[in-house]
Amino acid sequence: MIDENRRLYFKRLFNNNYKIDGVLKYIEQINEEKIIKYENITLRVYYRKDKDKIDDNFLMKVLKRAKIIIKEKPIIINLIFTLEKKKFNNCSTEILTEKNVNSGFTYVNGNEIFIFRREEFPKVILHEMIHHNFNIHNDEFKEINKRKLMRAFNIDEKTTLILNEAMVELWATILHLSFIAKENNWDLNKLIYMELRYSLYKCWQIMRLRNSKLWFDRCNIYSYIIFKTILLNYLEDLNKIYKYPNRYNDTIITDFIINHKELPKIEKNPKFNLDGKIIQRPDKSLCFMLLSDL
Ligand SMILES: [Zn+2]
Repeated sequence: MIDENRRLYFKRLFNNNYKIDGVLKYIEQINEEKIIKYENITLRVYYRKDKDKIDDNFLMKVLKRAKIIIKEKPIIINLIFTLEKKKFNNCSTEILTEKNVNSGFTYVNGNEIFIFRREEFPKVILHEMIHHNFNIHNDEFKEINKRKLMRAFNIDEKTTLILNEAMVELWATILHLSFIAKENNWDLNKLIYMELRYSLYKCWQIMRLRNSKLWFDRCNIYSYIIFKTILLNYLEDLNKIYKYPNRYNDTIITDFIINHKELPKIEKNPKFNLDGKIIQRPDKSLCFMLLSDL
């Protein structure tokens, strides 16, 4: 059962924030709410009892990972279990928007997280939790740095660009890979290599969408994919100028990204064998990570 007030709340929220038809339709169909708690973290999964399979053990595993990021603050994660995919548009001239890539959001002064895609949800939970860790999350992004990045990457000034999302996503990527490496006894360096190949391919695909004009999008894709990939590709260098738990300095990170803007080109969708399983995303996927569903 789902409380009708909760449904109404979601309808209002998603009509205001992300108007994604598939998500709104799914909200109408939700008929079950599952609550799983692990210490300070509460996960509420909203789904269709007859159509969706919920794996309690897996959800608990994901919660235990999330707990490592925020140890005391009570957090409520609302997971709306839609099958909406993150992907490029069929028409390459269409502008990329939140419908293509966004999965969740949170208010750092509050304690609720909202996630509206099943795809990548284990990593998205980590991403949203990291926003609540003020040793990483940092809203300071000076206008002058934003302009510097836009100039260096030929980006239209009306484009969404939030440097903090690149740092949060970098941390989410590394933490997610560390968890699955440990849990499965996989080599972390191999996983980072796989992710990097995948990310470089996504960067190449995005670059290919560019024409002679300034780049424009409405979903912050440069932060989530391009800048994140630069940080990941030059992780060793990054380590020399930035170390947790010190907060990053937006000017230093801006200059770092600009000075490391050249990336190797991967022009084919990478495919890997991990423990006998073939790992590859569909070519049109706009998932931020390759292994984020594990
Ligand atoms: Zn974020």
